[in-house]
Amino acid sequence: MNPIELNKRQNEILDIVKGNGPITGEQIAERLSLTRSTLRPDLAILTMAGFLDARPRVGYFYSGKKTSQAISDNIAQMMVKDFQSIPAVVDESMTVYDAICHMFLEDVGSLFVLDKNSMLSGVLSRKDFLRTSIGNHDLNKIPVHMIMTRMPNITYCLKEDTLFEVAKKLMNRQIDSLPVVKEGKEGLEVIGRITKTNITRAFLSLADDHDL
Ligand code: ADP
Repeated sequence: MNPIELNKRQNEILDIVKGNGPITGEQIAERLSLTRSTLRPDLAILTMAGFLDARPRVGYFYSGKKTSQAISDNIAQMMVKDFQSIPAVVDESMTVYDAICHMFLEDVGSLFVLDKNSMLSGVLSRKDFLRTSIGNHDLNKIPVHMIMTRMPNITYCLKEDTLFEVAKKLMNRQIDSLPVVKEGKEGLEVIGRITKTNITRAFLSLADDHDL
């Protein structure tokens, strides 16, 4: 990762915090004769890039870390359990037609399929439904287990995994989502879902401006 180039004002802020931290955003603004809202983007960049740390009700202080180290530390700490969503699941015997309706109603891009013991048995994506729909089949007669991607070919993750590992799996396998599972006696229990949207949300959270 290349170090971020700081502008003149960001360097001035760094100097103020190095010499006076912890210091609030309001106090930094006063010293520079600017308003707090003018400074907000600069403080966000300095915090995101790891030059500054921010603690609510305490203030900004200098972290002293190298930029790239701070960013990779932040990424390495992002865990599946903190960003996962609720999974949308269907039974193996549901018809393709009903599963398509379910996908619309749940407003998701993939469904996880459960066997009779409620354990993970398959994944259904939009493309699986499209492929079946253009194939001149009666969608009311085909059960989803006929068209799903099935175990053991399903890529999954655990809630203790990092988002970074998940992102690598999504890219390598060219898929949009992973079930988050827990190992049970009879198979894998589906406890969550991680999608590209969750990863995007995590990416944005790196830029959180801890508003002081
Ligand atoms: P889309 O169909 O919207 O492009 P994906 O790229 O996720 O969605 O799915 C592409 C194919 O990969 C589909 O056939 C789907 O069943 C399969 N698939 C999706 N997620 C997984 C997964 N976690 N493990 C294995 N196969 C998957």
